[in-house]
Amino acid sequence: MNVVDYPWLSLHWQRLVQLTESQKLPHAFLFIGSQGIGKKTLVQAFEALLLCQQPTLQSACGECRSCYLQQQGLHPDSRRYGEQDPISIDDIRELKSFIEETPHQNGKKVVCLFGVDKLQTAQANALLKMVEEPQDKTVLLLVANKGTILPTLKSRCFIINIPIPASQVALAWLVQQHPQVAISQINMSLYFATGAPLQARALLAANLNEYEAMISALLTGNVAAFDSAQIQEFILSKPLAALYLMYYFLADLLKVVLKGEPGYLYNDDQSQQIAKLKMCIPTPRIVEFIDNVNESIKSLALPGVNKSLLFESLFCQWQLLCQQGIKHESRT
Ligand SMILES: [Zn+2]
Repeated sequence: MNVVDYPWLSLHWQRLVQLTESQKLPHAFLFIGSQGIGKKTLVQAFEALLLCQQPTLQSACGECRSCYLQQQGLHPDSRRYGEQDPISIDDIRELKSFIEETPHQNGKKVVCLFGVDKLQTAQANALLKMVEEPQDKTVLLLVANKGTILPTLKSRCFIINIPIPASQVALAWLVQQHPQVAISQINMSLYFATGAPLQARALLAANLNEYEAMISALLTGNVAAFDSAQIQEFILSKPLAALYLMYYFLADLLKVVLKGEPGYLYNDDQSQQIAKLKMCIPTPRIVEFIDNVNESIKSLALPGVNKSLLFESLFCQWQLLCQQGIKHESRT
């Protein structure tokens, strides 16, 4: 996909195009944003624009020799590090000699460095030196997820901060990408991807069936509903994801109970079940159960924890809670 296919990147892209046209192109950029927001697409489009021999008004031409070599990852004046494996000290050494070379194509040299937030101190300091001593014609494009970045490194770069797009923008884009998928599923994927659209798209392809099965089982309030092969496979292979799903489910339920707002994790067909849960479980018990799930999340990190038992216990507690709630309701 191209940068123009991601509407939430368009302002950042226009800014980069303007900087390319100005006489004061910074020698080092730092792109910061969450995983799954399109940083790599943006950076590669910018790399192509900087290397292109005959750029158009808005982008690289896509047809010249430089563009061809860049698309193939073979451009002699471009280097990418940290794309597959973390940036190593050997990479930094190679980079050092690369930036001292004269460009092959009489244009700029461009270096993309991915995962700058994960750099070891030695590598970060070596990179800082290069950023501090800019080489003529070399542009460094540093890319980081939100994490710890050496402040001195940060202060010497032109920062492109890419926030999570507004939920309507992400939702509209995902609906366009997956016209067949129910809005509730798309909402769920965005919820789990904490708003990052590309991450949400990946979830839509991978995990949603497991999530749906788990939510449906929770909505029944019946421990037998968790016996399905799909749920058993889910809790044993991805226990942390399953626990977080329960956690979000409960937090979402709490929102419905306290504020009367619709929950993201449920679709319209489930409204009767959610209304039943809302009616029958007293709020303090939901909060208590959230604490239990939270404790389970912590205990998962302990060695030798029995995942099957842990989930069985939670599912039984959940059933009890739903049943007690129903009794409570019939008494009042
Ligand atoms: Zn070109």
